[in-house]
Amino acid sequence: MRASRRLGCLTKFTGLVATTLAATALVPLTSGTAQAAATAFSASCPTRGTISQGYTSSHDGVDIANSVGTPIHAAGPGTVINAGTAAGYGLWIRIRHTDGTVTEYGHMDSISVSVGQSVSGGQYIAAMGNRGQTTGPHLHFETHLSATTTTGTNTFTYMSARGVDLERCVGGGNPSPTNFTTWGTNINVRADARLNASVVRVLPGPTAVRVTCQKKGDTVVAEGYTNDLWAYIPALGGYVSNIYIDHPAAELPGIGRC
Ligand SMILES: [Zn+2]
Repeated sequence: MRASRRLGCLTKFTGLVATTLAATALVPLTSGTAQAAATAFSASCPTRGTISQGYTSSHDGVDIANSVGTPIHAAGPGTVINAGTAAGYGLWIRIRHTDGTVTEYGHMDSISVSVGQSVSGGQYIAAMGNRGQTTGPHLHFETHLSATTTTGTNTFTYMSARGVDLERCVGGGNPSPTNFTTWGTNINVRADARLNASVVRVLPGPTAVRVTCQKKGDTVVAEGYTNDLWAYIPALGGYVSNIYIDHPAAELPGIGRC
């Protein structure tokens, strides 16, 4: 939570600071660092519009500007933990997701969910507004690694780790541009990078996928290759051995570790 005087948000809501001050000292700031994706959900685009202010050291969220009434959707499945009025935000919503992380929405014109309510990813939750400290209608969208952090983590990194390119999706583009293709038939997608992890999907044939990170797991020997790296594919909810990602390198280039 940092004050901001740039276009979009004039100030950030600081109501949580008093109640979570002790926790703040114990929670490392994670802005810009790699984020674990092992249990991450597959994200949904929160709204459409133009990014009027990005994630910076003085603005720990992203402002997405559009007209009053533009639909706002839950970025993922979870439970509403805050919904109502909040200083600075006018109205806000916070959702704790199935992976323990939190998304936060501010300045709405109206909200359609209440505390304790379960929501699914992509569910309509609010209409964009111009309430609170703003310079125009927009959604302030913030992402947190837990319910007790007061500073939002890098919004773009958070969404990317969950399969969504935020800039593309708010602009109406494909939120999950593919970057690799699998090969082989009846390829197992597993819940973790282990051969005994449950199979969450089976790919019947070559499939275009978006790999967001890779990590070491069980060594797989197949098709004449040996590899212990697995590719995480949020849209499929699991991992595929890198052997079945169509690329000559054992470690996929340009893809960080989960
Ligand atoms: Zn903002």
